[in-house]
Amino acid sequence: PSRDEVHYFGAGPAPLPTAVLEAASKALLNYKDQGIGLCEISHRSADANEILADAKSALKTLLEIPDDYEILFLQGGGSGEFSAVVTHLVGIWVEKRRLRAQEDLTVALADGKEPGSKDDLAEKVFARLQKEVAEELKLDYLVTGSWSLKASQEAARLVGQDKINVAIDSRKSNEGKFRTIPPESEWSLTKRKREGGPGSALVYFCDNETVDGVEFPRFPTLLEPHQEDEVDNDQTLVVADMSSNFISRKVDVSKYAVIFGGAQKNVGNAGVTIVILRKSLLPPTINVASPDLLRRLGIAVAPVVFDWPTIAKNNSLYNTLPIFDVWIAGQVMKHLVESFGERRIGGQEEVSTQKAHALYSTLDDYPDVYGVVPDKSCRSRMNICFRVCGGKADKEKEFIGGAEKRGLLGLKGHRSVGGIRCSNYNAVTQDGVQKLVQYLSDFARSAA
Ligand code: PLP
Repeated sequence: PSRDEVHYFGAGPAPLPTAVLEAASKALLNYKDQGIGLCEISHRSADANEILADAKSALKTLLEIPDDYEILFLQGGGSGEFSAVVTHLVGIWVEKRRLRAQEDLTVALADGKEPGSKDDLAEKVFARLQKEVAEELKLDYLVTGSWSLKASQEAARLVGQDKINVAIDSRKSNEGKFRTIPPESEWSLTKRKREGGPGSALVYFCDNETVDGVEFPRFPTLLEPHQEDEVDNDQTLVVADMSSNFISRKVDVSKYAVIFGGAQKNVGNAGVTIVILRKSLLPPTINVASPDLLRRLGIAVAPVVFDWPTIAKNNSLYNTLPIFDVWIAGQVMKHLVESFGERRIGGQEEVSTQKAHALYSTLDDYPDVYGVVPDKSCRSRMNICFRVCGGKADKEKEFIGGAEKRGLLGLKGHRSVGGIRCSNYNAVTQDGVQKLVQYLSDFARSAA
C-alpha cells in the first residue's frame, strides 16, 4: 500500500508527518542546493549549528522552557539517560557533601574541635564521605511500569541495590501487573531534611509508561517544590522520563531538575535523545565530584559521552551528533510551533486528549468485548493498552488481522504484556483515529 492508505499505531519508532519526510528525502540528497546531503555535512559546519540552534529554539518555545534550563542533544537513547541521570546527580550529591565536609572540618580543625592538623583534612573528608555514602545516599524511584523498573535496575547496577529506594512498585497491589499509580499517601519517599531524614539524591519517575499504558495525570503533589527545602539547599531533584509523551502536553519545566526523552516517538526518528536540565546543576554553579573520588567511594563514573557538563560545554557537539536526526526533530517541533502559535504545546495537548478520548470512549462502549488494561485514573493518552474478549489469543489475532485489512497497522501489544496497544502519538492523524474508532465499533458488533 502507499503511505496514505495506511495508519500506523506503532509504539516507537513511530509515525512522522509525511510533509517532514518528503522534505527530508530532498534534504538527504541535496541540502539547500549545495550538492551534498544532510547526512554528509559536518556536524561542525555553520549549517549544522543553525539546525541545532533552530531545534533548541523550537523546543524552548513549545514547552516555554525557562532561561535557567539547558537543552542537550545526545545519543544513547532513553536508556543512555537512565545511566546519565544517576552518574550526574549522584556525582553532584557527593560533591555537595564534599564541599560541606571540607568546610566543616576546616573550621573544626582550626578551632581544635577536631583532633589532628590541616594535613589530615583530605583523609578526614574522605572518611566522612565514605560514611555518608554508606548511610545516607538514597535514590528514590517510582516504579509504575516496565521503563521505570528498567531505570531503577540500571541505577542499582551503577550505585548498588542498597542505595535504591523503590518508593512505589505498582505491581504489588495488582497481581504483579503495572496498572495503577498508587495514591501519594502510599509512597515511601526518603525523608527530607525538614522531616528529619537525609533527603534523596533524586526522585525519578516515568511520566508515561509506553509498554503498560500508564501515564501520570499530573505532576505529583508530593514532589512540588517546598520553600523550606530551598533554604536548606535540599530541594528534591525531580527527574522525569518523558520519552513517550514528550511535547504532547503542557509541562511546568521549572518543577523538574531533569526531563529527558528519546526522539523516536513524538519528536523524530531514533538517533537523538533530548535532555532538559536545570543550569544550576552544571558548572560553574556545581561540579560533579572528581572521577578519582567517585572511584574511591565505589560510585560509577560517567563515560564522557554521557557526561552532561562535557556535552553542555560543547553545545552538544562534543562528538559527532547525527545532524539529520536533529533536523527532523527540529522540523517536527517547528511545525507544531507554527500550527499552534500562542497556544504552544497546549494546542497539541487538546488534540492528543481528544484523540485519546475518542478511542477510550469507544472501548468503554463495548465492555463485553474490550477491557482497557490500566486503571481509569492513569490511562495513558499516548499508549492505549487493551484486551479483546478477555485476552483470548484467537480473538486478538482476529482483531489485528481485521485491522491490517483496513490499513490500521502496528496494533500488537508489547511482547511482555500481550494484547493490543494503540499508540496515539502526535503524528497519528485524527483521520487515522476516526478509522480505528470505526473499526473498534464494527469488530465489537460482529464479536457480540
Ligand atoms: N523510556 C521510555 C518511556 C520508552 O518508551 C523507551 C523506549 O521505548 C525508553 C525509555 C528507552 O529508549 P531507548 O530505546 O531510546 O533507549
